[in-house]
Amino acid sequence: MNRFDYIRPQSVAEAVAEASVPGSAYLAAGTNLLDLMKVGVTKPQRIVDVTRLPGLGAIEWQEDGGVRIGAMVRNADLAYDERFQRTFPSVAEALLSGASAQLRNAATVGGNLMQRTRCAYFQDLASACNRRVPGSGCDALGGENRLHAVLGWSEHCIATHPSDFCVPLVAFDAVVEVEGPHGVREIELDALHTLPGSTPEQETVLEPGEMIVALRLPADAAAFAGNARYLKLRERTSYAFAVVSAAAALAPESGAIGEARIALGGVATKPWRAREAEAFLKGKAPTAEAFSRAAAVALSEARPSGDNEFKIELARRIVARALHLAWEGTPATMPALPASPFAVTSGASHVA
Ligand code: SF4
Repeated sequence: MNRFDYIRPQSVAEAVAEASVPGSAYLAAGTNLLDLMKVGVTKPQRIVDVTRLPGLGAIEWQEDGGVRIGAMVRNADLAYDERFQRTFPSVAEALLSGASAQLRNAATVGGNLMQRTRCAYFQDLASACNRRVPGSGCDALGGENRLHAVLGWSEHCIATHPSDFCVPLVAFDAVVEVEGPHGVREIELDALHTLPGSTPEQETVLEPGEMIVALRLPADAAAFAGNARYLKLRERTSYAFAVVSAAAALAPESGAIGEARIALGGVATKPWRAREAEAFLKGKAPTAEAFSRAAAVALSEARPSGDNEFKIELARRIVARALHLAWEGTPATMPALPASPFAVTSGASHVA
């Protein structure tokens, strides 16, 4: 482990000033950063610990029905908040499908948005990785890449974004509030993460020193509460990143689909909103054929980046399945294995 300075600021303004010094990194729960520091993937010279900053740990309901979530709210606290489960059930389902119970108890909302890819080559210093060392190449191309991206990738990077939480968030037009050296600004979550292009080392639009202080879900996302699901296929149901996942939400209107929201996880370098598939479903009858065709639209630009063509069909199926389940209605109780297509709702332990 490299030596580093440890700084514990007393305010957001002080944190931003400290983190604006080159070589600094924000530390929240550290569930990703500390792992990367231990293996030498990242070597910050200054750690700015924001876990004890005041004012970042609240879930605040807005007058219009939207919610503002402080960046330091723990994933488990948000997922088990009864009003949050009732209002945004598919987001709670996604949260409870991520990581392990221990990690969810520690990991923060802001940290979840900023987590790095789990591409094995990224974490292996002996491998070439453009994201870790710009211009060094990409050993995942032509390597072990069956879990890599089929959407949004470039010849410089084919890694997937690992978050479950971000998938329904991006479908519901979540917004992040950011404070930085030049003031306060808001960024749509869909615009926070960038595609790799020729600069995969640049993962978000955040400027040096900028810090996420809160996340907002708008009131109109709550209108989907009765018909929203998140489904996740993983190689180990208890604890693994998504091979493919899908968030689907529908607003019924006179027996048809008034509005649809669809996003995918595990398939692209960022949480992937499927807007064309959403537009396709507007006004359609909720049939298996319509869901299947919407899923095809969602994956129409997918192409394998290696040994992963199977993910395209798998993703189509999980989108169609998520749409079907969303139309059936959000279960009154959270499935015992949240987000698993193999879960049944009997034996559920969480109130949705
Ligand atoms: Fe690095 Fe991206 Fe290639 Fe993985 S896919 S080795 S993260 S450049």
